Amino acid sequence: MTSFLLTPGPLTTRPEVRTAMGRDWGSRDPTFVELTVSVTAGLERICNAGETHDCVLLQGSGTFAIEAALRSFVSSTDRLLVLANGSYGDRITDIAKRCSLLIDTLKWPDREAIDPAIVDQYLTENPHSYVAMVHCETSTGLLNPLEQVAEVVERHGRLLLVDAMSTFGAMPIDLQTTAVAVLVSASGKCLEGVPGVGFVIARKELFAASRHPATSLALDLIDQWRQFHVSGQWRFTPPVQVVAALSEALQWLEVEGGREARLLRYRTNHAVLVAAMEEQGISAYLDSALQSPIIAAFQMPADLTGMFDRVYSDLSRCGYLIYPGKLTTSETFRVGCIGVIDEAVMSAFVTAFAHCRMGIAMEEISHNAFST
Ligand SMILES: *Cc1c(COP(=O)(O)O)cnc(C)c1O
Repeated sequence: MTSFLLTPGPLTTRPEVRTAMGRDWGSRDPTFVELTVSVTAGLERICNAGETHDCVLLQGSGTFAIEAALRSFVSSTDRLLVLANGSYGDRITDIAKRCSLLIDTLKWPDREAIDPAIVDQYLTENPHSYVAMVHCETSTGLLNPLEQVAEVVERHGRLLLVDAMSTFGAMPIDLQTTAVAVLVSASGKCLEGVPGVGFVIARKELFAASRHPATSLALDLIDQWRQFHVSGQWRFTPPVQVVAALSEALQWLEVEGGREARLLRYRTNHAVLVAAMEEQGISAYLDSALQSPIIAAFQMPADLTGMFDRVYSDLSRCGYLIYPGKLTTSETFRVGCIGVIDEAVMSAFVTAFAHCRMGIAMEEISHNAFST
């Protein structure tokens, strides 16, 4: 049975996208070189990269692309400020530490957005050359105020690196009006491709050859960029089928009506989900003002506390895969609203959830009757 992946990725994809992987491509063949160029151009269009930014594709999942950006652009004489209010923000700190970068982290509780005023104050007093943040903290679904933080970082003359993994292709990001120096995302989230390729869209001057060498060979974006521009080639074996699937997925984004139409579908998914869960007495973890339409975290209700594995397996038998919470302080579970799913799927999921919950309650009653 095929399942709906109500997760933060990999996601439910279209059959056409999966079918696009059903052939072989020579990586040096002109048809694949063309495919790479058109995918890159398509990604640049989505965020209005214009003449200021270039996109570089990279093998691997999103985390590889984040590490590549840190290893390629941030040097040992830079200072990086990480703004973190969840586990993906913490992951940036982790990666930066492994890269031996000079870093500081400003942290917020996972139910609070990054506060641009605090960033403003901090940058007034500190010399950090780079600031890094996550657009949507997929661990909770919290949407951080990208435009406001970008305005502050630009005013201080610093460079902003954004993990837009779970927003690119759905939430608006305009690189001509929002001062993002480095944007990182991947194939398998709102773009609805299959996982396996990440990309970094960065200001052109950051690719200039005279800069310090990257501290990684495989993750060197400047070398990868140069190779794409000199010969159109990937430096190392490209995930050809993944790129073909991404190309197909980008065409389906157009068919759907572009980024705005996709966002509208996700918003509807999210609204249907949250309303129906609340009707069952299950409350969203976040204040609705902070909530993105990408993924929703819910407080585990008292009758299901400690039973995530059972809830998971019951739901998976019904064809829905959900995700555990990513919080240490409170038991939550997450339901993704992205991927090739619509409000009918969401409604059916919520009904299945109610049935599973009732089934578990009945089992508990009979179990308790036995044991007394
Ligand atoms: C998915 C995601 C990543 C990357 O995770 P991978 O497992 O490497 O794909 C990074 N940041 C955010 C916010 C994400 O949602």
